[in-house]
Amino acid sequence: MVSTPQLTQATPEMTFARLPRGLVALRGTDADVDVLVVGAGGAGLACAIAAHDEGAQVAVVEKLPRLQGNTMLSSGSVPGAGTRWQRAAGIADDAACFEADLRRQAGPHENEAMVAVLARVSGSLVEWLVDVAGLDLSLITLYRHVGHSVPRLHGPPTRRGADLMAGLVRAAESRGIPVAFGNRAVSLLWDGSRVCGVEVRTGPEPATMIGAHAVILATNGFGANPAMRARYCATTAAYEYAGAPGAEGEAIDWGLAVGARLANMGAYQGHASYAVPHGLLATWTLMELGGVIVDRHGQRMGNESLGYSAFSEISGTVSGPLYAVYDARIRDLTAAAQEEFAELAARGGAVEAADPTALAARLHIDAVGLRATLDEAGQAARGEREDVWGRRDWGRAPLQPPYVATRIATALLHTQGGLAVDGEARVLRPDGSVVGGLYAVGGAAAGISGFTGSRGYSSGNGLLAALGLGLIAGRSAGSAAAQARDREPAAAGSTT
Ligand SMILES: Cc1cc2nc3c(=O)[nH]c(=O)nc-3n(C[C@H](O)[C@H](O)[C@H](O)COP(=O)(O)OP(=O)(O)OC[C@H]3O[C@@H](n4cnc5c(N)ncnc54)[C@H](O)[C@@H]3O)c2cc1C
Repeated sequence: MVSTPQLTQATPEMTFARLPRGLVALRGTDADVDVLVVGAGGAGLACAIAAHDEGAQVAVVEKLPRLQGNTMLSSGSVPGAGTRWQRAAGIADDAACFEADLRRQAGPHENEAMVAVLARVSGSLVEWLVDVAGLDLSLITLYRHVGHSVPRLHGPPTRRGADLMAGLVRAAESRGIPVAFGNRAVSLLWDGSRVCGVEVRTGPEPATMIGAHAVILATNGFGANPAMRARYCATTAAYEYAGAPGAEGEAIDWGLAVGARLANMGAYQGHASYAVPHGLLATWTLMELGGVIVDRHGQRMGNESLGYSAFSEISGTVSGPLYAVYDARIRDLTAAAQEEFAELAARGGAVEAADPTALAARLHIDAVGLRATLDEAGQAARGEREDVWGRRDWGRAPLQPPYVATRIATALLHTQGGLAVDGEARVLRPDGSVVGGLYAVGGAAAGISGFTGSRGYSSGNGLLAALGLGLIAGRSAGSAAAQARDREPAAAGSTT
């Protein structure tokens, strides 16, 4: 009966009697649900809420003992084009403008049909998160976002993904959606023609089989799987990993086992300013407001206006420590608006000195090089010369004393390649046919951030694919499953 570790053949005798923790109340006698969501991240909870609201019985299984996915780590910024918050701020925007921005940033890739789908859903997604899921979101106007021609990202007041998740958890709880922690999906159930459930393990005890009309893979990408990174996304192999531990790429193996197509596997979101040893992101706002990135010789290596993700392709090739250099005004302005940076500064991650020579001494880097670099950058910021790296946006620069620096490294945040899906998030085979019963969303699905590398990533692409595709998948799988369930009793009745 069993074929591969990724696929288990379901049999008519298979019972669904053993229940994973948290699902006991589901039906009382078995663990057969309309829609089973694998992964309790932003994508998974958005799916679950949307599917529930379509009338489906939904359950979520999560392999970790608590909420610990990338959505928790994120800044919680969600793009929405044409929202009422943009209108209130006098910003003209719509799906067509967003789509054009996304295409410009990403260039050609293997998932282009999804660009219009996600641009179109984005505005209604943000309004759904606030009006239906009950989240508190506002338009972010303080800083520019990579890839966006207008302010379009919306986030919780704290700008923390943990608060976004708290809102989604409240919405799921208020609907009575069970989320079973410590339940690792290990294999898909296959009835010979479609996916019909998932095999789940809670520990050494025997696996539990959960039957479902639709399975939604919301397991994120493969950033935490070194072998898959080396295979599909080799440029990131030496980067620090700043993402969640659960992103181990199971959806890729399961998808391949049912003949799915993969797309954009070499694409990723990098971050060029991951503070070390603190393990927190030193927000790119520091650079947008005028900061520069230097190496141990005190020299810059590129145009910081490229943004944190694209710049990671440059910084990732430099060996040795790197530093973000800014000034006390920029530190204070940023700390006042972004809690995570304030925490980094409070934990000693923002070293201050009266002048470039003293700063170089504190960082143990070349003082002559750093002085020359800051002189040149200051001249470029004042318009007295062309910047050697072509930078034109200088924020509050030229930098002024006292100067501040953060030691940084290049990091992988999350991978952008995954399972190819259609406009309803249904998993596709190479010939374009749909794998029955199987959906993929968020980091498990192919992204829209270019074919390879980190330059194609527009800010917000991660949560757009998680929450936007999650909303689409939840609605589609939820309504299909609820209709199928409603038809069942009638069909049974007609035979008796
Ligand atoms: C530091 C950081 C900052 C970011 N900031 C932003 C931002 O501001 N805006 C933006 O758009 N994007 C941002 N991103 C990217 C964004 O966080 C991700 O793209 C997005 O959260 C992915 O959502 P997800 O639901 O697919 O994954 P996750 O939130 O990681 O959820 C996946 C869940 O699935 C679980 N799981 C995995 N495998 C299994 C299994 N076999 N069985 C059961 N459960 C399983 C995992 O444990 C996890 O809980 C950021 C990323 C990082 C790391």
